[in-house]
Amino acid sequence: MKRIVVLGGGISGYGSAILAKKQGFEVFLSDAGRIAERFRRELDRWEVPYEEGGHTEARILAASEVVKSPGIPETAPIVQLIREREIPVISEIEFAGRYLGGARTVCVTGSNGKTTTTSLIYKILRDAGMNVALGGNIGESFAYSVATGQFDWYVLELSSFQLDGMYRFRADVAVLMNITPDHLDRYDHSFERYADAKMRITQNQRARDCFIYSADDEVIRREIGRRDLRMRQLPFAARTAIASGAGDAFLDGDGLFTAAVGRSSVEIDTARMRIKGLHNAYNAMAASLAALAVGVEPEQIARSVYDFAPVAHRLEPAGELDGAEWINDSKATNVDSVWYALESMRKPVVWIAGGTDKGNDYAPLLDFAREKVHTLVCMGVDNRKLVAAFSGVVPHVIATGSLEEALAAARAAARPGDAVLLSPACASFDLFKNYENRGDLFKQWVADHAK
Ligand code: ADP
Repeated sequence: MKRIVVLGGGISGYGSAILAKKQGFEVFLSDAGRIAERFRRELDRWEVPYEEGGHTEARILAASEVVKSPGIPETAPIVQLIREREIPVISEIEFAGRYLGGARTVCVTGSNGKTTTTSLIYKILRDAGMNVALGGNIGESFAYSVATGQFDWYVLELSSFQLDGMYRFRADVAVLMNITPDHLDRYDHSFERYADAKMRITQNQRARDCFIYSADDEVIRREIGRRDLRMRQLPFAARTAIASGAGDAFLDGDGLFTAAVGRSSVEIDTARMRIKGLHNAYNAMAASLAALAVGVEPEQIARSVYDFAPVAHRLEPAGELDGAEWINDSKATNVDSVWYALESMRKPVVWIAGGTDKGNDYAPLLDFAREKVHTLVCMGVDNRKLVAAFSGVVPHVIATGSLEEALAAARAAARPGDAVLLSPACASFDLFKNYENRGDLFKQWVADHAK
């Protein structure tokens, strides 16, 4: 019998283990750290043997196939051992993709905008009454949904780490938002390798499958030019119009976009959307194309797009204090996402940034900072790089070392009619557990002081 070993006991790993069990394989799950109580209970309930706090090599190396969770890097010693033995290593998505039956998939990847676009596509399909599940990096795991549900469609958010372990998997509809530098530490600091991983979203696609991508993204255009792609291509753009016979979406200067696939088309006025900014126009264009490709009625798509509220921690309104609007964009952990956050600001900005720097180059932000930001509040253990980058660009730069200190300084600097924007450009680990924790504490602070 096939012996499946699952590495990692997080949301992706426990889902894969349960699916392996359900398929009748011999399965063993191993996690070098602790497994959360909730997942342990599920593993017990499904009678999946597991270990935590270390790896028993003999048991792991007896596997016929290993399902590796996306958080475990190639450099982990146990992964290297598995590679030496030439045991196949796949991702959860590759594994679960084998047991889809007739179900179909919409898969979203990119450096930024994945969660927003995936959630919007899911909402449109669900509002249209389709039998659809959400998965990948978001919600319940794909493998768990495949093991326990009966769905016609899966809408999946895929990180480059998940794409790395995908070989035979094929997306019916693939969506690629953008390719900008992120996570280069996991790709030998090679942008080329990272871009290759993202382009894997198109692998195995057939002529009738769809590939939706940003035609404004030079890297994507270059990658497409280097490949012989046969699927239906549906580009979306605000700058570079690329007519595609299959369909496309284009945003005009008045903030109106039309998305068309075959004979169906939908027109959206981005001013009426609840998610703001150019980046969200991109996200909505991509989602509209995906929904048209799947066959949702145009009127239905428009209704759902207008009704869609920002996902938590992504330019999420956090309330008003002394006449200023406070906005939680804690998820903006790289420079590109902050660029779009600043782009979308229509009021004078008090900008709160900082945290664990991932080798950031702040140059792309200087123009918007000069134009829109009157005070930068740096919130981090080490603020030197931010202070140096923006001193002389932004009139007031204040260095603080805690959330309390930072938010008090931001409040003092804000005037009625301003926006106070938390959009850090950095990871959160110096002061917080994760970006959600940072955003939640920010919202809590605003709520407490608004009383
Ligand atoms: P991801 O799941 O890829 O991290 P999210 O939808 O969670 O993307 O958005 C993360 C951050 O990136 C948000 O805070 C937002 O400011 C920014 N963002 C969202 N969509 C885009 C986009 N299409 N292009 C660039 N930045 C974006």
